[in-house]
Amino acid sequence: MQGNNINSDLKTFIKLAKEFLKEEGKDFPGEYISPKEIGDKIDVSLNDTPINRHEFERALKKIIIATPKTSSKLFFNQLFGGRHSKAVLGDLLAVLLNNSMATYKIAGPQVAIEKEIINKIGSIIGYNKNFLGGTFPTGGSMSNFMSLIMARDQYDIEAKNLGNKKNLTIYACENAHYSIGKNASFSGIGRNNVRYIKSNKHGEMNVGALENKIEKDINLNKTPIYVNTTVGTTVLGSFDDIEKIAIVCKKYNIWLHVDGSYCGSVIFSKKYQDLIKGINLSNSFCFNPHKTLGAPLSCSILLVQNKKHLYNSFSNEADYLYQTSDDSYNLGKVSFECGRRNNALKFWTLWKSIGKKGLSKMIEHEFMLAETAKNYIKANSNYQIYNSKPSLSVCFNYKNFEPEELCRKLYEKNKLMISYGRFKKNKFIRLVTVNSSNTEEDIYQMFKTLENFAEQNKNVLRRT
Ligand SMILES: *Cc1c(COP(=O)(O)O)cnc(C)c1O
Repeated sequence: MQGNNINSDLKTFIKLAKEFLKEEGKDFPGEYISPKEIGDKIDVSLNDTPINRHEFERALKKIIIATPKTSSKLFFNQLFGGRHSKAVLGDLLAVLLNNSMATYKIAGPQVAIEKEIINKIGSIIGYNKNFLGGTFPTGGSMSNFMSLIMARDQYDIEAKNLGNKKNLTIYACENAHYSIGKNASFSGIGRNNVRYIKSNKHGEMNVGALENKIEKDINLNKTPIYVNTTVGTTVLGSFDDIEKIAIVCKKYNIWLHVDGSYCGSVIFSKKYQDLIKGINLSNSFCFNPHKTLGAPLSCSILLVQNKKHLYNSFSNEADYLYQTSDDSYNLGKVSFECGRRNNALKFWTLWKSIGKKGLSKMIEHEFMLAETAKNYIKANSNYQIYNSKPSLSVCFNYKNFEPEELCRKLYEKNKLMISYGRFKKNKFIRLVTVNSSNTEEDIYQMFKTLENFAEQNKNVLRRT
């Protein structure tokens, strides 16, 4: 029988962590196990009786070694990957501390940490420091949801009591994240009232088409309340023109949200400022340090131009909870959750240790890796590229191999974790350079791995 002993389990943690890191350093992102085999290969069964310490550790080791290695040099699958050790350190401490971020009474200095990050980011993006507010929602989807609720309540403060009375409509680029549709459904606005605006060939929202659609809806007695712009679209990694869209939003008095979940970390870089020009004109902005800055999942930050909207939409008077005086230190007043995990400390430990300069270096390094990949592709006639503007996504095909199948086989054969995407009529492999620990050499190695695999299997792989 094993006891509840934190000191001994921390030793177990170190031991397992070392084994895991050794495994992660190998030349493949993990050993593929099909869903059908998983029950036979890995014992996840729960039983009535305890197991001894030795068997417990053995079972745990097997499970962690079999789990996909998202910090492997060969993991390019999703819009996150890699880790910064200082962020990991902060998150491990957050687990140990186990505060809830609802009130000052339970979180103490952790509240000041969250507020410091929000204030610093607010000033970087040019929100007025006397009004700005923010919170750490559970992720980008939730950040987008909260921004939509604030937009709805700004338009009609009674909506939260009486429900939506008007025919509300909201707008996003056709390439916007799928959470926009879900959030329309959750908010009572309805999926059919999302207007997906066509994009240009770079995947950016067509601003003329946006304005036309708004005009049309107004003429139909609809009420446009919210425009979602994306900085870093999920597939192409393209940037909507915030400045131009802001002019339209101002003209029609519409809430402008900037979804920077993927590439919003460019706020830290001077070099790439132009990609987010006009961000200071938005009503809200979110970005995910868990995507591009090596913070463990999840870490998403929502900034609001005027904090009164956060209070209007999310403060629920609960006196039993808020027993200390200064409301601005009771973060539960502006959050969706009641008990809320501390997702701020990991970003603070990262920022504190490497400075804003270090954050800037991380994101600029990732752009450089994307550039390296693009140059490699352009110099090699076996490749075709599908996006040309600065972006952390590099969309390409190799020869005429069918991309979906190629990605699946690379994964099943333990070579590489990478995924495919679609834009307009094209389907392609999407490389995302979001792991700032990767080097240029790692990117070349990725191409070599892909090419060798395709050549060795050219007789069985499908062609387009
Ligand atoms: C990933 C992503 C989201 C969702 O963020 P989660 O933290 O995964 O919920 C939203 N918008 C864009 C553009 C994204 O790339």
